[in-house]
Amino acid sequence: MKKIVTILGARPQFIKAATVSRQFQQLGIDERIVHTGQHFDQNMSEVFFEEMEIPHPAYQLNIHSLSHGAMTGRMLEAIEPILLTEKPDGVLVYGDTNSTLAGALAAAKLNIPVIHIEAGLRSFNNQMPEEINRILTDRLSQLLFCPTQTAVQNLQREGFEQFDVEIVKNGDVMQDAALFYAKKAAEKSTIIQRLGLKKFALATIHRQENTDSIDALTGIIEGLNAIHAQLPVLVPLHPRTRNIIAQHNMPVHFQTIEPVGYFDMIRLLQACEIVLTDSGGVQKEAFFFGKHCITLRQETEWIELVENGYNVLVGSNPEKMQHAFEQLLTKTSDFNINLYGNGHAAELAANSILAH
Ligand code: UDP
Repeated sequence: MKKIVTILGARPQFIKAATVSRQFQQLGIDERIVHTGQHFDQNMSEVFFEEMEIPHPAYQLNIHSLSHGAMTGRMLEAIEPILLTEKPDGVLVYGDTNSTLAGALAAAKLNIPVIHIEAGLRSFNNQMPEEINRILTDRLSQLLFCPTQTAVQNLQREGFEQFDVEIVKNGDVMQDAALFYAKKAAEKSTIIQRLGLKKFALATIHRQENTDSIDALTGIIEGLNAIHAQLPVLVPLHPRTRNIIAQHNMPVHFQTIEPVGYFDMIRLLQACEIVLTDSGGVQKEAFFFGKHCITLRQETEWIELVENGYNVLVGSNPEKMQHAFEQLLTKTSDFNINLYGNGHAAELAANSILAH
């Protein structure tokens, strides 16, 4: 494949795409990026294109702030004419957002091969919009790049070996990003000095199951407030979470800041003592930077982190959060094991795409 249209729209997709787009440029693959607009704030979108030198999108759809159905539907409608004009050899989608599903569906309906990076992940929780997006996107894809052996097994269990598709275990492109940008982050980011940080816990909260449930969000905030009494907690706060906390006047004792760019995020991950998060990407990044992680969810797609003792699942229960915090803060682990490839996931994927 020589010409690819990439559909993206949300923060984690910019980070994943940065690594693959660089490989495409090196291989001379003609890539046209479509930004759906799902994430649109400067600090949720533009900053990643600037810092990570992602090629400018050829198309900006500006579709956001809608219900899941409306957003996905409008994206589908807007992507179709672009694919008809561009006539790519393949359409590349990342992860599990509405942009992923809309891109895959638009391409599949036009009989354009779909390439899915981060295929095969499952939480087995169909209440998560991401789980629906993943299952359907995988089923529409011809070329499925899996970050882990667990992801490959999930596809096998769903019968994918009987379909006319190719499954490639290429590793995790987010690890490529973490390795590639760590040095630049150390040179460019001043966040530790700016905020005068010493020892601290880093937390992020944005998953719908936590933000849409007042009980869950209240539990998480109570847990973070209690942990903050022992170790300062810093939260770069997702705009959705910030709005809900403000609407309900929830008592926040820890420090919150606006979402940060990737370089600042890497510095925070490197410098913190421990991570608390409901993010998929941040769970792995904690591991990449040698930090234990408390995951504010009931289940995770990154099960190997839990199995190897790097990650503990606590849901939104404040007592469980504190218990895990006390256990993990003093724990020492060897993070030097290869769970996600060796930093060549994007290269493997790009070479494989070119060969098709
Ligand atoms: N991230 C960031 N700034 C922030 C919070 C997160 O750059 O303030 C990065 C984080 O390092 C990771 C990605 O955003 O690479 C994860 O995105 P998010 O948590 O929104 O999505 P998920 O991984 O849960 O799909």
